[in-house]
Amino acid sequence: MSNRLDWIQQELAGLKEAGLYNRIRTIGSPQGAWLIVDGKRVLNFCSNNYLGLANEPRMVAAAKAALDQFGVGPGAVRTIAGTMSLHLELERRMAAFKGVESAITFQSGFTANLATIPALVGKEDVVFSDELNHASIIDGCRLSGARIVRYAHADALDLERVIKENEGTYNRAIIITDGVFSMDGDIAPLDKIYEIASAYDIILMVDDAHGEGVLGKGGRGIVDHFGLHGKVDIEVGTLSKAFGVVGGVVAGNPVIVEWLRQRGRPFLFSSAVTPADVAAGIAAVDLLENSTELVDRLWENARYFKAEMKTLGFDTGFSTTPITPVMLGEAPLAQQFSRELFEENVFAMSLGFPTVPRGKARIRVMISATHSREDLDQGLEAFARVGRKLGVIH
Ligand SMILES: *Cc1c(COP(=O)(O)O)cnc(C)c1O
Repeated sequence: MSNRLDWIQQELAGLKEAGLYNRIRTIGSPQGAWLIVDGKRVLNFCSNNYLGLANEPRMVAAAKAALDQFGVGPGAVRTIAGTMSLHLELERRMAAFKGVESAITFQSGFTANLATIPALVGKEDVVFSDELNHASIIDGCRLSGARIVRYAHADALDLERVIKENEGTYNRAIIITDGVFSMDGDIAPLDKIYEIASAYDIILMVDDAHGEGVLGKGGRGIVDHFGLHGKVDIEVGTLSKAFGVVGGVVAGNPVIVEWLRQRGRPFLFSSAVTPADVAAGIAAVDLLENSTELVDRLWENARYFKAEMKTLGFDTGFSTTPITPVMLGEAPLAQQFSRELFEENVFAMSLGFPTVPRGKARIRVMISATHSREDLDQGLEAFARVGRKLGVIH
């Protein structure tokens, strides 16, 4: 008997023992405030569908129309088979929405990072990277071969310290930070980081996956939030969160966008998202440009829920966005909390290592504009009951 795969069985058993094994629930309905999960109707506190656009009728209609006009697939890589006019339109619309000159789209936010970072830095270069940056940034950095210098989370002073420490040791440099940190819901001090990038003449890149559609005027993102228009070289984003669809985007300096069309490997070697996805993305931009109502409701809901959770005695960490971590400590407790919530018809997933550091397991509640006040109250009551039962609150 061969035993070449035994190690995987052992690793999997270890994950289960440590409460770190991913058990993926099956959703049998569209995204929304309520879902059918494993056959049961539950309140949705999990998704990144901040504005409820994942099942928005006008976006669904736009996707259907694109199916009729352009078919189901893009056929091949854009640089080889030509790019559909629809994809270019989305890029123009995203650039305009973001208030920048240029944008390029990718299959996902993940591939946007894998494309961008290795196109800009290599072996002789250095990346100054926030220690809590998203996995796709970390992977993009590793792929680039550049030296990775981490600075303390959201700490502009520490960023400046590591830049000074490394002066003269590299050819090119780039500073990369998440805009909104998805596990804690805090915001990068981009104004201060920009000051440093500009003082040391270093390329600045922000990944605003959780800020787009959430921060800034009408959801224009972190650059708008800080009034840094035209100052941030690269804004990475995703269409899979607030925009409710799928796809990645890099917006910003036109020279960089042009370079990515030549050297962004996921752009050159992987097909684009489908016409239906692109049309839905354009429809999302339409909706956001026409009204701030959804973004306003998202924030109203988030403020209400977080204030009530604090009153109940929960530790919701440092979040200043609709992402609401409920800090529980050890992973098994977080998993049990999530299971008990599910019994109460509330779907809120626990997060443990390696998604968050060891000992910092949590339930992450994702508030959406689709939640009604009654939905939020129902969720709060469930949290209160489970929290008391498990001794998390009194
Ligand atoms: C979610 C996320 C991504 C990945 O986006 P996808 O479009 O889902 O691939 C990238 N970066 C950050 C910071 C994210 O939060």
